[in-house]
Amino acid sequence: MSTALLAWYDRHARDLPWRVGPAARAAGVQPDPYAVWLSEVMLQQTTVAAVRDYFHRFTTRWPDVAALAGAEDAAVMGEWAGLGYYARARNLLKCARVVADKMGGRFPDTREGLLALPGIGPYTAAAIAAIAFDRAETVVDGNVERVMARLFAVQAPLPPAKPELTALAARLTPARRPGDYAQAVMDLGATICTPKSPACGICPLRAPCAARQQGIAADLPRKQPKKPKPTRHGIAYVGRRADGAWLLERRPDRGLLGGMLGWPGTDWREDPPAEAPPAAVEWRDTGAEVRHTFTHFHLRLSVRVAHLPADCTPARGAFLPPGDFRPSDLPTVMRKAFDIARRDAGMS
Ligand code: SF4
Repeated sequence: MSTALLAWYDRHARDLPWRVGPAARAAGVQPDPYAVWLSEVMLQQTTVAAVRDYFHRFTTRWPDVAALAGAEDAAVMGEWAGLGYYARARNLLKCARVVADKMGGRFPDTREGLLALPGIGPYTAAAIAAIAFDRAETVVDGNVERVMARLFAVQAPLPPAKPELTALAARLTPARRPGDYAQAVMDLGATICTPKSPACGICPLRAPCAARQQGIAADLPRKQPKKPKPTRHGIAYVGRRADGAWLLERRPDRGLLGGMLGWPGTDWREDPPAEAPPAAVEWRDTGAEVRHTFTHFHLRLSVRVAHLPADCTPARGAFLPPGDFRPSDLPTVMRKAFDIARRDAGMS
């Protein structure tokens, strides 16, 4: 199966900005471990389409790990804004600094060595070891799980089936070209063996595929029903001073949206919160709310706005001059609150 898959990859590999394609690889071009690491961290929980622009901006601004290690924290958090799962950005910086300061700018070339770095878990360590260093590691993401479940008609649902699917994937991992193979399975899952309508007719693995033979490809992998997410409520206060400065605060490093810039506000709880304005002025209810979904809950965030006097001394947050404020530095939920405030009369 791996031979058939590699032959298919040689003809149909996706052209990705962080990838050394199979022809270049065969000609001896080595992947840049920095690019592979950066793309793999960005791709955790995110799609290729969402990552392309971020990857381009990061590598233009910080072309190697030493440049990234020397970046300001706020600059990196700002460039990451909108990509979500912000702990990844904080760990990205930590990892860059360890590699630049303690490893002479060279990433470890084994799964074990990579695993010891901040923000690199078992999946990412295996992916970087395989893709950047051609180690025979088994790389199992959602695409690979789906392909394995179908190839072997595994009926057990996810997530309990994960160990079985990982063992099947390990059995297929070849000693020859393991880096290309890891990317080939991912590409097959992303372009042919897609979640809803697998294109079995043009699949290089159609002959041995058990789910195709049984006519159950689109039903696999089975999934355990998910628990419904609770809804939490909060209030965000978007304030602007007479000179145009915005009242913002940087969230604590730990926790949700850690280290990101945002509007002062209440905690987010399942009960509707009491008002907690950051400055003692009259805040107007816009009547609109942000709806945003995080991994574990839905959020409904009411937005209050105020024009703040020149001598305002807020209890929380700090004023950011208009020239220093880039709405694109805000995480998506805070950007949505800003958009509501901006649409509201007089806040832009
Ligand atoms: S034959 Fe169909 S179900 Fe089987 S691996 Fe290929 S696309 Fe997926």
